[in-house]
Amino acid sequence: MILFGLVLMGFLGLVILREKVPEQIGCTMEARVCPDGSSVGRSGPHCEFAPCREIQGEPDEQAEVEVVLPYRQELGFVSPLSRAGERVTQKPFGMFITPETSPVQPERFRGYHTGTDFETFEEEAEADVVVRAICSGPMLLKQRASGYGGVVVQRCFRGQEPMTIVYGHLRLRSVEKAVGEELLAGEVLGLLGTGESQETDGERKHLHVGIRSGGEVDIRGYVASKPELKEWIDPCQLFSCVR
Ligand SMILES: [Zn+2]
Repeated sequence: MILFGLVLMGFLGLVILREKVPEQIGCTMEARVCPDGSSVGRSGPHCEFAPCREIQGEPDEQAEVEVVLPYRQELGFVSPLSRAGERVTQKPFGMFITPETSPVQPERFRGYHTGTDFETFEEEAEADVVVRAICSGPMLLKQRASGYGGVVVQRCFRGQEPMTIVYGHLRLRSVEKAVGEELLAGEVLGLLGTGESQETDGERKHLHVGIRSGGEVDIRGYVASKPELKEWIDPCQLFSCVR
C-alpha cells in the first residue's frame, strides 16, 4: 500500500509539474529595419525586437577623420597615399615583368620592378589623389620622364644611410616645392597624374614608389638583373602596404 501510495504521489507530482512549465512560444520571424540599414529580429520571452545598433558618426565624417590622421609609421616613414594598407598592387617590388606576362596589359616594359605600384580606388578615378612625402629630405629632381610622366626624386636618410625616393606618375604642375627645397615626412608632395595622359606617360592612374640605397639619383623603374635589384629597397619594409 505504501509503495503504491508513493508511486501515485510521484505520478501526480509529474502531472502538476508539467502543467506549471509554460509552453514555449515561437517568435515570429519578422525583422525590423534599423536606421543604419541593418535589421533586428524578435527574441526573448516577450518576443521583443532586439535594440538597433547605435550609429557612430556619419560615414562621411569617418572618411574625413582618416585623412587628417598622421600617416607616421615606424622609423619615421609615412605612407605616400591614404589607405596605403588597403591598396592592392598590380606590380609589387621585385616582380619580373615582361610584355607577355605582365599583370598590366598592354605592357611595354621588361625587367625587375624596382618599386611598388599603388593602385587607385574606383572612386578616385576622377578625383584628386594626394601624394605625400614618405620621409624628410630635399627634393633632388622634378621633371617629365619617359615611362613616368611626372617624376620627383627626394633624398632621405635611414640612420646614416642615404637613400633616394622616386615618386612616379605625378601631375608636375601640382608639385609646389622646387628642387633643393626640403620636404617633411607626411607633407603634401603633389597629386597623381590623370590616367592615360601625358601626366602619367600614358599609364593607368597609380603611384610608383621606388627607393634606392645610396645618394645616386636613379629613376629606373626596372632593372635587367637580380644583382642590380639589390640596390633597391622594398617600400613595404618602410610603411605598411598590401604585398
Ligand atoms: Zn611601377
